[in-house]
Order: sequence, then C-alpha cells, then structure tokens
Amino acid sequence: MSDPLSRAVAVARDRADPLREWRAEFALPQEVIYLDGNSLGALPRRTAERVRRTIEEEWGQGLVRSWNDAGWFDQPRTLGDRVAPLIGAGPGEVVVCDSTSLNLFKVLTAALGQRPGRDVVVTDLDSFPTDLYMIQGATSLLGGYELRYLTSTAPDLDDLLDERVAAVVLTHVDYRTGEMYDLDAVTRRVQEAGALMIWDLCHSVGAVPVDLTAAGADFAVGCTYKYLNGGPGAPAFLYAAERHLDRVTQPLSGWHGHAAPFAFTPDYEPAPGISRFLVGSPGLLGYAALEASLDLWDRVPMAELRTKSLALTDLFLDLVQARLGDQVEPVTPRDHAVRGSQVSLRHPHSYEVMQNLIARGVIGDVRAPDLMRFGFTPLYVRFQDVWDAVDVLDDILTRGTWREPRFAVRRQVT
Ligand SMILES: *Cc1c(COP(=O)(O)O)cnc(C)c1O
Repeated sequence: MSDPLSRAVAVARDRADPLREWRAEFALPQEVIYLDGNSLGALPRRTAERVRRTIEEEWGQGLVRSWNDAGWFDQPRTLGDRVAPLIGAGPGEVVVCDSTSLNLFKVLTAALGQRPGRDVVVTDLDSFPTDLYMIQGATSLLGGYELRYLTSTAPDLDDLLDERVAAVVLTHVDYRTGEMYDLDAVTRRVQEAGALMIWDLCHSVGAVPVDLTAAGADFAVGCTYKYLNGGPGAPAFLYAAERHLDRVTQPLSGWHGHAAPFAFTPDYEPAPGISRFLVGSPGLLGYAALEASLDLWDRVPMAELRTKSLALTDLFLDLVQARLGDQVEPVTPRDHAVRGSQVSLRHPHSYEVMQNLIARGVIGDVRAPDLMRFGFTPLYVRFQDVWDAVDVLDDILTRGTWREPRFAVRRQVT
C-alpha cells in the first residue's frame, strides 16, 4: 500500500484528474506554484488575443461605431448574463460594472429604500473592510441608521435580528478563514425577520457552487478578478432578484442607468430592470479580458470543480497536520459544508514566512495580523503543487530561513 500522503500518490491523482486539461488554458510562469488565485486569478492564454482585438479592431478600426457594432454599450448586461449561471441567477438579474465596493453601495442603498421605517444594518465585524467602510459611508450619508455587528464573541445572527433591521450584509466565504455561511439558511432567517439579504460573493464565484435563486436571495455583489480570472481590477458584478428590479432605486444616478441615455433629457429616470444599477461609461478593455475568461467559465463543470477543490484543500490540511504539527494553526474548517476554496494557517511570523515562500516560488498571501492564506483554484492547481508547497513550507520552518532580514521588509500590498 502506498502512503496516501506521498508525492507519488499526488502525481497519480493529477493523472486521473478529470480537470487536468484545464491547466493548459493558463499562461502560468514556470517554477511557480500559484496559490493566490483567490486574490488575483491567473492569466488565461486566450486573454491577450481578445484584448488585442478590442484595442486594434474594435477601437482602432471601429472607433466610436463600436459602441453599437461591437456591442460595447450592452457589455454590462451581456457579461452579466454570462456571470449569472455561476451564481444561480436568471437572465436580466446581473450586470457587470464598477467595483465590488461601489456595487455594494448601490445595492445597500437600494435595499434600505425598500425598508422604510427600519433603521438597522447588520453585518460581520470580520467582513472584508471595504464592505464595512462602504456600509458606514452609505448609512452615514443617509443618516439615522445604526450598525450592529456579528463578532467572534457574539456570533449568533438571531440575537441581532429584530423588527428594526432593514438589511443584512454578509460575505458568503470569509476572506480570512475560508469559512462559508449556509447561504440558504441565513437568507431564510434574515427574510423571516423582515429584512433584506445582501451577499458578497467575492470568494464564492468560481470557487464554490452558488444558487441565489434557490436561496431566494435579494441582492449580491462580487468581483471577477479572483477565481474568475478577469484580470487586475476587472469589473465587478451586481445581482438584484427580479422581484425587486422595477421597484428599487439607487442614488448613483448616472446616465448609463437612465431609461433613455441618448435622449439627453435633464431629469433622471431609472432604466427598467437591472440597468438602473449602471452609472457611467465602463472600461471596455477590462470587459474584453473578462470576456475571454468567461469563454472558459461557460464550460467549467462546477460540481467537478467543487469536488477537486475539497480534495485539494483536504490534502493540504492533511499534509500540514502530518508534517508541520503544531508549528502552524489551521483556521479553516475541516467540515466540507462550511469550507470555501482556501486554507489559512496562523503563524506569529506569517509575513516573513510568506515572503520566504514567495522567494521559493510558492505564492500565497498574508492577512493581518497573523494569517498565511493559500487559495486553491482547481482549474490550474495540481495535487503535486499542494505536496510541493507543503514540502517547501516544512523546509522553511524547519531550517528557520524565514528569519533572514530580507523577508521582514514590508511591501505595500500584502
Ligand atoms: C476582494 C474583495 C473585495 C474587493 O472590493 P473591490 O471594490 O473590488 O476592491 C470586496 N469584498 C470582499 C469580501 C473581497 O474579498
């Protein structure tokens, strides 16, 4: 019997992996084990050619005609309808535009407008900070709102829900720990309390199956530059359930969200449907890059992706336990039902250890104060990569090479 934690078994699992062909779709540098696709997804091979076409043909030759002829004007909706199946949304319920931060502002203000008389917003204090900042900014602009926070000492949503709560904003998969909420159950509890549910899907889309329709969710936002490989700063998405579409308004009333943008009338009138969440002219080069990666995502079998994701994170956790013992503390749940597609390890010198890993070609990242984060993207991460990454980490910790002063130099982006 071969040791299930041996490198030979990892290599054999790669050979038998039904997703093994997908790796060739990505232009990964040699000698790099990329475990940061949850921060910036890898570059699909087809992207450069697709962006070149937009620059040289649509822009260079088509010029302003491309707003009509190349479908530029409809790109937010066209790409929204292609993101929709990845989050269980229907046609006309998703647009791709702006950033996740801005889109959260739009759906939150839209949701609060639907709950007059209620004056509390609930969120998790451990949310990605931009979500907290945008909630704070939006509610202070509107005035009269109180924020209630789930915290590690007060983790029960039921304690915070009452007839004053207008909206709840939660991130489906926690960016630090990789812990995942039960989308259906939480949505139901929030709605039973009469509030509207807003999901941040940044660490879910392309990582775990999501079905907003089955959950009966109200609103959602998320980014496309992580697991979806849309490129640095790629446009984000925004989901609003069809039942809300023609009722909600949001205050960023730009002309792309107007009912008749080219009528150039002085007064704002929201467009019917999801278009009212658009603001101004979008960056078409970013759309072109995202379009190329969605050409891949249109064909990705999500059930197989989830199976491999769990197998990769299981192997990583097993190897860490077997080889590193208590030198690091995994904070990601073992239970599949509540695990996303990343594993985080606590170490008092997480920053230095990660810089050492990166110098050795194993790319992850750190989140303050003490977490090393490893993202597992099943389209291009192999079982042998998991094995090799833990092998390098073991070597770094055993020999203490992370103590070299160069690994303590702080960079701007961690
Ligand atoms: C990455 C991420 C964001 C990023 O927001 P941007 O506006 O795209 O910079 C927001 N929320 C969560 C949970 C994230 O993980």
